[in-house]
Amino acid sequence: MHNQGAVKKKMNGYVGFSNFPNQEHRRSIKRGFNFTLMVVGESGLGKSTLINTLFESKVYPTKETEESVGTVRAGVEITSVSADIQENGVKLRLNVVDTPGFGDSINNEDAWRPILENIESRFDAYLAQENRVNRSKIVDNRVNAVLYFIRPTGHGLRAVDIEFMKHLHTRVNLIPVIAKADTLAGREVEGFKARILADINYHGIQIFRPVSDQFDDPETVADNKAIGARIPFAVVGSERVVARADGAAVRGRQYPWGTVEVENEAHNDFVSLRQMLLRTHMEELRDATDVALYEAYRTQKLLALGHVQDNAVFREFNPRAAAEEEERVHGAKMQKLEAEMAAVFRQKVHEKEGKLKLSEEELHARHQQMKAVLEKQRHELEDRRMRLAAPGSASAPPPPPVDHAEQPVQRMPSKD
Ligand code: GDP
Repeated sequence: MHNQGAVKKKMNGYVGFSNFPNQEHRRSIKRGFNFTLMVVGESGLGKSTLINTLFESKVYPTKETEESVGTVRAGVEITSVSADIQENGVKLRLNVVDTPGFGDSINNEDAWRPILENIESRFDAYLAQENRVNRSKIVDNRVNAVLYFIRPTGHGLRAVDIEFMKHLHTRVNLIPVIAKADTLAGREVEGFKARILADINYHGIQIFRPVSDQFDDPETVADNKAIGARIPFAVVGSERVVARADGAAVRGRQYPWGTVEVENEAHNDFVSLRQMLLRTHMEELRDATDVALYEAYRTQKLLALGHVQDNAVFREFNPRAAAEEEERVHGAKMQKLEAEMAAVFRQKVHEKEGKLKLSEEELHARHQQMKAVLEKQRHELEDRRMRLAAPGSASAPPPPPVDHAEQPVQRMPSKD
């Protein structure tokens, strides 16, 4: 007999599965990455400029004239552009979703609603594809992060900002940015950030933060801390290259009093934002979208549709639970049927017993009646015998007694 158990052997040679992460990496590079970034904020806050500055490409057409600032629109539109960006052989399919019109109306109470609907409809589209038989070509258009542009007022969050974040934070990775930070004085920025964070905490809003785990090296932990300390990122965008005082050509904005450099960490937080979004945390943002945000949405949606969750395995996908449930329903049905049959049987027995009792009583009555008749006849015969036996009685016996009640009545034919 062969031993059916697993054979454990120590292998000395190189098998090659340790190369799996590299294989996976190569496959991902070949396939390319997909990243969907949504930008939200009122018109003129520099959203298009920042996107183009981040990706160093003209992803978005910008409104170079300042007249575009504060354009009043009828409602929120949602538009999307895709760009294929390649860097060191790595392909990135970048989808930028713009939401022109957000916060531009007189009444912005419900401005968050079409954006939430758009984010949820992307989850729905993904869910529908997951439930298809062929899942080899799933198109993932889920929003991985929202860059939320805060107007540089210096005061704190406005009602429109709070409402938006409160309604969206469970559905998307929120990254708040202070727009056009060069319009605020350096001192003002720190106070403004503190007030924004206080508002965010007060309203229980979850924003995306780079976190370290036990596997991260001390350098990564320090980098994550430094990036986290700059949230909300105060950013400056520019598609122009300008001359610095020392003559160097830099991306920035030129003012009579000097130059604000986009990529100078002493001037603004653009570098930290780019670092987090594109270099160190893009995968984490994609993971958080898939594992936390989408999963929570999916569970809520399925529960709302009436599915019962059982140890994280949905009943409809658990054939054993379904068979057990069917057996239980069948057993209950059989029990009910048996109880009904027993009740019918008892009823029938009861009726039969009643009938039998009745006929027994009838028999008894008839028996008594016959007994009385016979007793009477016996008495009469006894009388006659005594009379005959008496001295001087006639020799011929009298005719037998006639029971008139028993005799059929002889009717004479009627004359009429
Ligand atoms: P959007 O409507 O939010 O997409 O804004 P745009 O990117 O089209 O920018 C509107 C205007 O603001 C343009 O004139 C830009 O040159 C200008 N702008 C963009 N970013 C900044 C910035 O960081 N600082 C300043 N001062 N102006 C900016």
